[in-house]
Formats: sequence, C-alpha cells, structure tokens
Amino acid sequence: MLTAVGEVLRECYRRGWITTRDGNVSLRMSLEGQISSFMHITPKGVRKNTIHPEHIIKLNIDALPANFPVSTEFHMHRYILSDAKTTRCVVHVHPTYTVAAMYAGIDIVEASKSFPELKRYTRVGPTVPVCEAGSIQLAEFTNKNLRRGSNVHPQSSNQIMESWQEIAYDIVGQENHGVCSVGKDPWDAFEHVERLEHICKILLQANAGTK
Ligand SMILES: [Zn+2]
Repeated sequence: MLTAVGEVLRECYRRGWITTRDGNVSLRMSLEGQISSFMHITPKGVRKNTIHPEHIIKLNIDALPANFPVSTEFHMHRYILSDAKTTRCVVHVHPTYTVAAMYAGIDIVEASKSFPELKRYTRVGPTVPVCEAGSIQLAEFTNKNLRRGSNVHPQSSNQIMESWQEIAYDIVGQENHGVCSVGKDPWDAFEHVERLEHICKILLQANAGTK
C-alpha cells in the first residue's frame, strides 16, 4: 500500500498534475478489521516523483506536530482521515484541466452530472472556494464539502467522530488550486482525479470550439 503512494505521485507528475514538489498523499490503514491510530503522509519539501515507502512519515492521528516536516496540507489530510473505519487514502494534486475548468468558471459539479462514465463511479462534491494553500480554512472547507457536514476545530479524532457527518463524495475541486480525492487506496483515489480530469478536458475543448 505505501509503495502505491509513490507510484501514484509519479503518475501524477508524469501527467503534469503536479510539479516536482507539489501534491501530497496520506493513508490510514485498517489491519485485520482494526483501524490504525496512525496515519501515513508524504513529507514536505521533497521531490514527489522520488517518493518511496521509507520517505513517508508515520504519525499518531491525534498528534499535532509543531515544526514537523509533514505536508503543507497536513490538516486537510488529518481531518479527512480522522473518522476512517476502513482503510482510507487522500490524494491532493493540481490536475491541469480540472483547475483550468474551474478557473474558466465552469461548474464542475453540474457538468459532471452529464457524464455517465464519471457519475457512475465518482461523486463530485461542492467546489471549495479560493483559500490560501496550506491554510486551516482550506482544510476545513475541503473536509466540509466532502462530507456535506458541519465543521469544528477538532482536538481529537473522538471529537471529530461525534460532530462530523460521513464522507459523502469522492472528490472536490478547490478553486484556483487543485482537487482533493478520497479512496480505499492510492490508486482508487487517483482514479477519481483521472475521471474528473477527463471530463474537464472534454468540457474545455467543447467550450473552445463554440467560441
Ligand atoms: Zn496544493
């Protein structure tokens, strides 16, 4: 499973969805039906196309490390993983056509409803408004929009489980920035990005053709 984290990031890099130091992936694993109290997350300031299992950081899900070299988007990952009951993976990248479509003012949630190959397998949640990268605001909006739920500053995963709704979507767009997807493993989360990116490419080419 950890090997797939690096494989997914290399594929995202190959497709131009991230530059070398962008993007982050996290995982919380279930072993023998028991969810781990640890999460794994890609490190900060490392070339993401060279990530291998030994580079991935393991943290207690309730730990809030200060000055620790975890991903800039650590809070976004932690919020989304906090109430996992089975293995859950979070992928945050900047796929070109999806970001371009949002930038062009296309409502990717509405548009996604017209494409059966997307909506059958990938639920697209409400787009997150423009927030600063790495901010708590981005973490909160992304988590909230993936859940259709209320938002609080959690102190522990127990508190999260009492106050947040279940994850309701597979992916959300983040305006002028990227996407955040959730899956049962890194490739599952990757496929949600890929499907949305594919229809955004079609939408942009269709729009360009009508002008
Ligand atoms: Zn980002």
